[in-house]
Amino acid sequence: MAARGHKRVGTLAEGGFKKCSKIDKCINPNKGIGGFLKIEEFGRDKSRIDGFLTWCKPCLKAVRLANKKTIQLGLKRYYVKNKESITLSTKAYALKNKVKIRLRKKRYYLKNKEKIKLQSSAYRSIQFNKDKFRKYFNEYSKKRRESDLNFKLRGIIRSRFWLALKASQCGKKVSAVKGLSCSMEFFIRYIESLWEPWMNWDNYGNKPGNWSFDHIIALANFNLMSPEEQKKACHYTNYRPLLHLDNIKKGCR
Ligand SMILES: [Zn+2]
Repeated sequence: MAARGHKRVGTLAEGGFKKCSKIDKCINPNKGIGGFLKIEEFGRDKSRIDGFLTWCKPCLKAVRLANKKTIQLGLKRYYVKNKESITLSTKAYALKNKVKIRLRKKRYYLKNKEKIKLQSSAYRSIQFNKDKFRKYFNEYSKKRRESDLNFKLRGIIRSRFWLALKASQCGKKVSAVKGLSCSMEFFIRYIESLWEPWMNWDNYGNKPGNWSFDHIIALANFNLMSPEEQKKACHYTNYRPLLHLDNIKKGCR
């Protein structure tokens, strides 16, 4: 790239038109009188005075295609030679343009949503990838459960509800987490407010001496066929912390 303040000239754009610098050899079929092309026929290049490349898009594409191997080799050689400085500048750019990059990625996702969904479902549907994905997901979840209480509780709430639905052979109609009808932050404080003095998040679990969530009205006592009843069953006021053994004695919950 040219140094700042010393932009390269080449052929210049005038009034929205520009000549391809391949002149007679230009393969662009949209050439007008005198070989002029609309400016949209050129890619952008900030290092040029007029902000556009000198070769039109079709010419550039043809040249790139013809020299694919050489270009790839050149790029690879350049990368190997400059690995460290490239890594550093990539990192610096990522840090400086965090918001911009996030927005760009989001824009790309929204624009290509369907394509991305298809690609990733095709990828996941291969059994090998399925196993790989599951292993990765399990490891990721385990790590995140250890550090993120909010995430851990969402998982617990979901799986408890899922088991109850499975036992009563009802389909899922509402989300167990949304069914709480409060934020996870509120739910955490609510449960903590009901703790006995010995209870804390470290002794949550299903071992003797642990406490776990108890549904005050057991899930089995709701008519889980109805979405309204599912919502009531999941409401945060139906949760309380209880010594795990007491919990088991109360029967199927
Ligand atoms: Zn051209």
